[in-house]
Order: sequence, then structure tokens, then C-alpha cells
Amino acid sequence: MVSVTELLNDPAINAYVLRMIGEEGIELLRRFPEGGEHSDEELAEMTGVNLNTVRHTLYTLYERRLAEYRRLKNTETGWLTYLWHLRLDRVHDVLEEQVRDVLEHLDTRLAYEEKNDFYMCKNCSVVYTFTDAANWNFECPNCEEMLEHFDNELIAVALRKRIDRIKESLGSA
Ligand SMILES: [Zn+2]
Repeated sequence: MVSVTELLNDPAINAYVLRMIGEEGIELLRRFPEGGEHSDEELAEMTGVNLNTVRHTLYTLYERRLAEYRRLKNTETGWLTYLWHLRLDRVHDVLEEQVRDVLEHLDTRLAYEEKNDFYMCKNCSVVYTFTDAANWNFECPNCEEMLEHFDNELIAVALRKRIDRIKESLGSA
């Protein structure tokens, strides 16, 4: 099993986790007791991280499948206790899924840029598809300025570059 410190030494993982749970969350990860499972209150006590931060961090990690809990019911009081442990071993898979989502989004956007022709109002800086522009008789619906053809080639080129870079990074992963 890879240690938290080792994982956080990877700049890509560190940046991802930092964006997700912030400095305090990372502090919790660094001090998280190795092995076993613990309630949020135990964790706050053991790590010195404030209880609300512990709860918020655990929940955020749980949403990304990077932490799990087991629920125990006290048979006398009926109270529930949640015992937590980390699943940071999944972080590579979670990151890759996220990158694939971004890639899918970019592919869709590129297809949209490639199959449409665009028209722009220079006054309003608004861009319309050919269909919309034709509906307005190529006059801006806001200011009645004539719409001009908008060349989206630079956008398409930038999208293709980003897509290629991501595909490369996935290939080498
Ligand atoms: Zn306009």
C-alpha cells in the first residue's frame, strides 16, 4: 500500500487533492492514523484537525470514492457511529476518470465547432450559429448590426491541441 506522503509527493495528485479538500484537508490526510477505522470525533482528537473540517473532508473524499465508512448501531442507545478509513489507493483511477470526462467534453465541443458555421455581432461580441443567424436575417437581434462571418479555426486548433495532449498523457499513464 502506498503511503499518503508518497501519493502527495506526486505533483498532479497533490494539486488535485489540494483543490478538492484544501490545506486543512491535506493536514488531516497527513496525520490520518495508519490502519484501522475511526469515527470523525476520534479523528479530530488524534489529528488535532477541527471536527467540522474532519467531517467536511471525509464527506468530500467519500463522494469521490476516496474514503469509506462502516456504520455501527449502538444496540442500547440506537445511536449510529460511522467508522472511517481512507481509500487513497483509488486516487489514480479517480484522476484518470476525471481526465476522461474532460476529454469527452472537449471532443463534444470540437465536434460542435467543426460542424457549425458561426456569425458574430461586433458590437455585442455575441456569436450565433448559421441557423440562428439566418433566422435573424443576419442582423443582430440586440442592436440590428449586420452579423459577420466568424472564423472559429483558432478555437478548433486550440481544442485539437488540448485533446492531443490529454490523449498523450493517458497513453503514457
Ligand atoms: Zn449586436
